[in-house]
Amino acid sequence: MALFCDVALAVPLDLVFTYAIPPGMEPVVGGRVLVPFRQQRLSGIAIELHDRPPRVNTAQVKIKKVIEALDLSPVLDEQLLKLGKWIADYYLAPIGEVFRTMLPLSAEFKRSIAYRITDEGRLALHLAGMSGSPARSKRTPEQQLVEFRVLDYLAERESVQEERLRGATRVAKALLSGMVRKKWIAREDVSAARDAARLVKVAVLLAAEERAEAAPPLDGRGARPHTNPAKPTAKKLNESQQALIEALAASGGRAPVEALRSLDVPRTTLGTLVRRGLIDIVDEPQNFTASKLKPRQSPFEFEFSTAQKEALAKIGEAVASRKFGGLLLHGITGSGKTAVYLACMHEVLEQGRASILLVPEIGLTPAVAADLHQVFGDEVAILHSGLSNAERAQQWHRIRRGEARVVAGTRSAVFAPVSDLALVIVDEEQDSSYKQEETPRYHARDVAVMRAKMAGAAVVLGSATPSLESYYNAKKNKYALVELPDRVEMRPLPEVEIVDMRQEFQETGQEQVISRKLAEEIRERLDKKEQVMVLLNRRGYSPVVLCRACGKTLQCKNCAVSMTHHKRERKMECHYCGHVAHIPDKCAHCGSEYVYFVGTGSEKLEELLHGMFPQARIGRLDRDTVRGREDFEHALNALNEGALDMLVGTQMIAKGHDIHGVTLVGVVGADMALGLPDFRAAERTFQLLTQVAGRAGRGQSPGKVVLQTYFQDHYAVQFAARHDFVGFYDKELQFRAWMHYPPYSAIANVLIRSEKLDEALTWSGELGRWFEKTRHEGIRVLGPAAAAITRLKRDYRYHFILKSPSREKMNTLLRAMLAEAAARKIPRTQVIVDVDAVWLM
Ligand code: ADP
Ligand code: ZN
Ligand code: ZN
Repeated sequence: MALFCDVALAVPLDLVFTYAIPPGMEPVVGGRVLVPFRQQRLSGIAIELHDRPPRVNTAQVKIKKVIEALDLSPVLDEQLLKLGKWIADYYLAPIGEVFRTMLPLSAEFKRSIAYRITDEGRLALHLAGMSGSPARSKRTPEQQLVEFRVLDYLAERESVQEERLRGATRVAKALLSGMVRKKWIAREDVSAARDAARLVKVAVLLAAEERAEAAPPLDGRGARPHTNPAKPTAKKLNESQQALIEALAASGGRAPVEALRSLDVPRTTLGTLVRRGLIDIVDEPQNFTASKLKPRQSPFEFEFSTAQKEALAKIGEAVASRKFGGLLLHGITGSGKTAVYLACMHEVLEQGRASILLVPEIGLTPAVAADLHQVFGDEVAILHSGLSNAERAQQWHRIRRGEARVVAGTRSAVFAPVSDLALVIVDEEQDSSYKQEETPRYHARDVAVMRAKMAGAAVVLGSATPSLESYYNAKKNKYALVELPDRVEMRPLPEVEIVDMRQEFQETGQEQVISRKLAEEIRERLDKKEQVMVLLNRRGYSPVVLCRACGKTLQCKNCAVSMTHHKRERKMECHYCGHVAHIPDKCAHCGSEYVYFVGTGSEKLEELLHGMFPQARIGRLDRDTVRGREDFEHALNALNEGALDMLVGTQMIAKGHDIHGVTLVGVVGADMALGLPDFRAAERTFQLLTQVAGRAGRGQSPGKVVLQTYFQDHYAVQFAARHDFVGFYDKELQFRAWMHYPPYSAIANVLIRSEKLDEALTWSGELGRWFEKTRHEGIRVLGPAAAAITRLKRDYRYHFILKSPSREKMNTLLRAMLAEAAARKIPRTQVIVDVDAVWLM
């Protein structure tokens, strides 16, 4: 029996913590333990059991004990533990925070605080009872009354949970804290594990013969008559009862009780039917609620193309080798990549092995989910951002029990606890949503590759526009390059026509949102009853509010960015922090009334198009119209079924989906990014243009793209218009080499932030001097400089950019920098290290 246990806790410290194991307790490595930490209880992962007493400098510090071992067997197996350690190391993230990200089990742990009265508290209560009021109190009489209500309430009870105490006494949080400081009451953390296996009540319609045998109805007084037990009951059903039974029969004879509540029948009906023996209620593990969408057609009804077959064979070989193998599947838009993914996952499943499909945040389209359900039935677990914590935990357990050996999901699905992993697929591998923009700042594509390495599995990175890094790796033979160079059924790629918006301005004499060319093309499609998509990658009505008198714009109070006008919702919103403000009627700086709303967002674009084409049915897809997955499904379905003529939206409309009626794509604004100080701007613009162009002409009729731009000579625009990925790649690679950017250097962004400007300045200055006097051969350190967004969510921001040919050396330097920051008492949460940063803003 080990005496000590090292625990990784989800706190922003680069440490693990050693606890004593009480006799009789048996924590497991990779399992969760509940431990005391400062004034709280936290659940962490046991990462090592051992007998080495921790070195404690002061004899007084007593080693704390594990409170509870929460798991009998590991929740993180050996491979996932190893993967977590790799992530902590590679991304310089605290290991406990990495494990928390890997395990979606927070729902199984209930945070809870309780209070109890102390001896001092009892004395105070007693004294108050004698003298009416304690001496020298700084509190108002009302506050004192509340304090005594609290003491009184606690005096009669052992320990009371915070919500209950506050509910019963209506005490404010601050007052409670004051009472703790006075030592009248004690605060304790009573957080505890919840029952992991959540059950739901399911109503089951008993079979006809069982129903016939069931007990006869109750008589009017609620007593069961003792006569004729086989008397048929159906006749006696009233309307509500019949409706409920019919609904149940229609859903295959069973349904969650919760779902039946939505029927328009009295709540008592179900109980009556149970008493009459027609329906049984059973507890069952909560089941995954499948997408309500009907699949379009079987995903394998067609003959695979030669290129698809070749891709399948190569992936199959890599899987069969049972060794790590990486493949880059470069297939143009509409070349049938998804069908290849599904087919090879199917093959893996037939071999009894597991696979994971990663998709971007908005890539999990309803159609893909429907296909997954159709091909894999109950064997698939779909993890998307719409799941509640409890549902996520539910799916996690299904996967771990081996009930779902096919997993599809966004970023964190890369941690799915499958065993015998054979294949990981990363669809749209270039998508920036794979990078987590909070600690741990991991990139799911790169973690997928590492996980496959550890598991001896194959990894497939798929894209029409691979990232520079991945394509470069393929060129260097780190991955096998597999190409799907043609669209399925030899459909042509759409013709792209560029409209130079500067010229449009000169010729029409006014700033246009929709060029004459695009308007004409739209009209033509509408006449032919074909469908149109229009991209404007900026939501809201107007992105800027400008004062004509003083020239200032309306800025967010938390961020150094303009507030966006949202007309329909009548508000100003900051797209970076979500801050909402009233629409100004005069300038906040000079009081002038000449405030103008400048620029166009997707909301205004929709309005403009409505004005130009009043007959057309227009839908909009952006983060304002899409609150949840259902809205997204709804809009895409409407387009798919022909209930819409036109869909307007942000990059959400650009990705993944496959709607055959769209023959025209208009790009009204997608090149804004080219003006940003970010070395990936060209790459992002190229990708977005290619993606959105790829939505046109996926059916029988060929497609066309009208691309409006202010940067018509830019190579990103030119190569996208020619569908020339390799051309773009070669050109962009030259720039990256000159500028020492990836794939030629590893980069990291080090952000120093504080709500106090002087702190942000002092800290970045201190670290800047430290970088200067610390040897770092070959590593370029730029900065400190003000970040492009100098203030965000109240924080002032300064940053360093590190570029290094050697990743090891860069990480060694970063680790030393973090140690220096800790020594200077700069809080760990204010120094953000972003390895392989995707955004340098
Ligand atoms: P991508 O993901 O490469 O853009 P998809 O996988 O969405 O392309 O395929 C585009 C469309 O072509 C889908 O409707 C798909 O069902 C269909 N498809 C895929 N392979 C074939 C094939 N070999 N023959 C005919 N249709 C196919
Ligand atoms: Zn002004
Ligand atoms: Zn803001």
